[in-house]
Order: sequence, then C-alpha cells, then structure tokens
Amino acid sequence: PIFRNAQFEISIANNRDLPPAAAAEIAFAGRSNAGKSSAINTLAGHTRLAFVSKTPGRTQLINFFRLNCGAALVDLPGYGYAKVPEAVRKQWQGLLERYLRTRENLIGLVLIMDSRHPLTPLDRQMIDWFAPTGRPIHILLTKSDKLSRNQASASLALVRRELSALGEQVSVQLFSSLKKTGADEVEKVVAGWLGL
Ligand code: GDP
Repeated sequence: PIFRNAQFEISIANNRDLPPAAAAEIAFAGRSNAGKSSAINTLAGHTRLAFVSKTPGRTQLINFFRLNCGAALVDLPGYGYAKVPEAVRKQWQGLLERYLRTRENLIGLVLIMDSRHPLTPLDRQMIDWFAPTGRPIHILLTKSDKLSRNQASASLALVRRELSALGEQVSVQLFSSLKKTGADEVEKVVAGWLGL
C-alpha cells in the first residue's frame, strides 16, 4: 500500500521554497471542505496526518509527505473558500497555477471533489492548468456515503461525460473516508503512475 505510513516532511508557503525537483510527486488538490485531508488520512492510515477541518481562510501551505517508495504526496492548499480576502485568494491561485503548470517531477494529480457538487469552476481551473502537461488526473468523488447508489452513479457518469474530451488522461471514482471505500482503487491508479 503506497500511502500507508506516509511521513510529514515539510510545509512551504511559496514556490521559491519548493524542495529540489528530485523524487516523483503526486499532488492532491481540492476545494476547501471537499474532504481532501480526510482522504489523505484514510489513505495513509493515520487519523491526523493532514489536518481536518482547519479554519478555512488561514494562510495555507503546501504540505509534503514522504511515501515509503520514496515519492512524495503533495497536499496543495484547499481553494474556493468564499470569505478569503481577494489578495490572499490571488496568492493561493498563483501558487497552485505555478506548481501545477511547471513542476517537472509532478507525475499526476489527484483531484478531490465533493460527489454532491463536482466540477465547480475552480475545479475546472485546476484541470485547465494541469491538463496541458499531458500527465494523468485522477478524480475522487468524496463523501459518496452521503449519496444513494443511484445518485452516486449519476455523479460518476456526469463527471466522466463532462471530461470525456480528455480521454484516458482522466479517471474518476467514488470515495468515502467515512466508510473507507475507494482506497484500493486510488492505490492502484497511483501505483500505475509510479510504475510499481
Ligand atoms: P478538506 O478541507 O478538503 O481537507 O476537508 P476535510 O477532510 O477537512 O473534510 C471536511 C468535512 O467533511 C469534515 O467535517 C469531514 O469530517 C467531512 N468529510 C470528509 N470526508 C467525508 C466522507 O467521506 N464522508 C462524510 N460523510 N464526511 C466527510
């Protein structure tokens, strides 16, 4: 299991503080409150590796976690929190854009969306920044426990249809941190990216 026992390494607030682009990086991004921290904790098998329910609007950081295989899980700042001052929002967006467009050792993006409200304009923005790299995007539709089976399949189908132009560059799955469902599927996808 690739994410098991991930170890926190460093937090940075600026692209200029990024560690050298050595080991492969897998980034996790998502709207604030989508369930990104819970998903990382579920995958890592820690209860509090990434901080759940942090106060949105505080300065946010890029957090690096080292995986056993040597690659890094990169937890990007949650976006889309409405009450953030414009200047702070611009700063986050600049950070995200630059990292997603230019980080050469970033081999794939795991994008976390609430299965009840997928593909917000900012989610599409992340895809627009990263897709031109040609590298894979794997979407986790989280909190799937809050949907009926029919609603969950409809959400999955909608996202697949909306992103069909990207073909095999994009994959989509349901995930629940509460029920611990979907972890095997993410593991498999990311293992493929890492050639494991
Ligand atoms: P983040 O801001 O994206 O890191 O989101 P968090 O992981 O902090 O989760 C935001 C809120 O959603 C918290 O109250 C979590 O307990 C809740 N949550 C996260 N994942 C799930 C899930 O899979 N199912 C349910 N029912 N709640 C979840």
